[in-house]
Amino acid sequence: MIQPINGKFEMPVLPYGTSDLSPVLSAETLDFHFGKHLQTYLNNLNAALPGSAFEGKTVEEIVKTADGAVFNNAGQFLNHCMYFMQFKAPFAGNIPTGKIADAIVSDFGSIEKFQDEFQAKGAGLFGSGWVWLSADASGKLVITQEVNAQNPLTKGLKPLLTFDVWEHAYYIDYRNRRPDYLKTLWNIVNWDVVNERLG
Ligand code: MN
Repeated sequence: MIQPINGKFEMPVLPYGTSDLSPVLSAETLDFHFGKHLQTYLNNLNAALPGSAFEGKTVEEIVKTADGAVFNNAGQFLNHCMYFMQFKAPFAGNIPTGKIADAIVSDFGSIEKFQDEFQAKGAGLFGSGWVWLSADASGKLVITQEVNAQNPLTKGLKPLLTFDVWEHAYYIDYRNRRPDYLKTLWNIVNWDVVNERLG
C-alpha cells in the first residue's frame, strides 16, 4: 500500500541508478519516463487531493473508487511505481524463481509459454496501456491487458508484474519496435519483488 505523507504522495526511491538498466532501458528513458512522466502524474494527483474525498487514502483505495482525472492520475502513479520498483540491473538468462516460478509453470505450462503470452498481449494492446500478471481470488495467475491508466485492482485481482506499453516507455530506445522492448524487459525483472507481491 502506498500512503500519502502529510497529505501528499511522494516519488518512489529507485533501488538502482538511472544508468544501471542500460542497455535495456537507457538513462535518457529513465530521465524522461521516471523523471518527467511519473512526476507529472504525481503532481496532478497531489493537486487534486486537498479537500476531496480522497484525502488521506492510500493510492490503491483511490484507484478502486475514483473516476475521471483523479482515477487517471492515481492509476498512472500506482502503475508506474509498480513498474519502476520491479526492475534491477540487466542479467542475461534472468528467469522467475521461487513461488512465482512454480505458480507460472503450474498455470501456464512453462516459463516460455507464459512469457510468449505476456509479450503477445503486450504487443497486441491497441493504443496506450499496460500488460499485467495478476493473481485472482483463488490464487490462479492471469494475464490481462489494461488500457490507459487501468489497473487489475479494479477487477478484484492482485497485481504482480507489469510492462508499460505506452509509447513513452519504449520510443527513445526501441522506436516503434514494441515487441523488441517487451522481449528485452525480461532481462531486468526483479523476481524477488514479484514474489513479495505474491505474498
Ligand atoms: Mn509510462
